[in-house]
Amino acid sequence: MNVIGIDAGGTLTKIVYEEKGRRHFKTFYSDDHIEIQKCLKFLAPNHFLYLTGGKAENWRKSFPRAHIVDEFQAVYKGTEMLLKKERQELKQYILINIGTGTSFFRVDEKGCERLLGSGLGGGTILGLGSILTGLSDYFNLVSLSTKGKREKVDLLVGDIYEKGDSPIPDHLTASNFGKGTMSLEKADLMRALTNMIAETIILLASHAAKQYQMNTFVFVGSALEANTAFKEDLTQFQDMLSYTAVFPDMGSYAGSLGAYQIGMEGQDSQNRQ
Ligand code: ATP
Ligand code: MG
Repeated sequence: MNVIGIDAGGTLTKIVYEEKGRRHFKTFYSDDHIEIQKCLKFLAPNHFLYLTGGKAENWRKSFPRAHIVDEFQAVYKGTEMLLKKERQELKQYILINIGTGTSFFRVDEKGCERLLGSGLGGGTILGLGSILTGLSDYFNLVSLSTKGKREKVDLLVGDIYEKGDSPIPDHLTASNFGKGTMSLEKADLMRALTNMIAETIILLASHAAKQYQMNTFVFVGSALEANTAFKEDLTQFQDMLSYTAVFPDMGSYAGSLGAYQIGMEGQDSQNRQ
């Protein structure tokens, strides 16, 4: 029997399984119950189901024999697998899962501990993004933000201080959306939004990093998917705040891959008993 790892999140449900020696990755909208059910019903006869994420329990009604895996352990385990695949041997780091919301973890040789969370995340890109632009498609919103200029929307330190007078660098934000008017371009608004979320995440991460003397931030979660503007904004303070940003490939699947791996280890230990 094989294993399926399912990360049923607030917005997206990610599925990882292996068939004929190949690993498969699938993503569904979490409210698309019919498609998810179809996929799981098809695979369930010869797979053990390992579920994680906020909506994991909902699937237990249809698949009572499914196992539930701790979400934080799954994300941690999956991230370690992704880093290992890229030969990134990191002894300690701040792990940041940017999903619908954002969770921050401390990882070291002893394991993983959740530190804090923020409601600013991928759900804010979709929700506030749609309020600001009238668009709802994630990829349209993300593509707008790559074309936008946040300086048109944000009040920068340099907008307040006379040239050369500022005690902090001119390009820093004095007030997010501080130049807001009704006549701004959608692209500029989207970039200002992306940047505001990134700035807040970095602020929170760097405080945690300072407390635990860490300087590597590893980012996972689907809010980074095809989102070059967001990644750029998350890396912009690397020199100033002395951190290194790492974006493992396939980071959207960290939770589902972790659930898959925990399932594989569980099955393996049962087979050996
Ligand atoms: P949580 O872990 O907070 O419960 P989740 O697991 O559903 O939520 P992710 O799947 O990691 O969260 O990320 C969801 C976010 O990814 C969305 O809010 C959106 O910003 C972004 N996203 C990426 N691809 C898509 C897509 N195809 N459709 C909608 N949103 C997408
Ligand atoms: Mg999630």
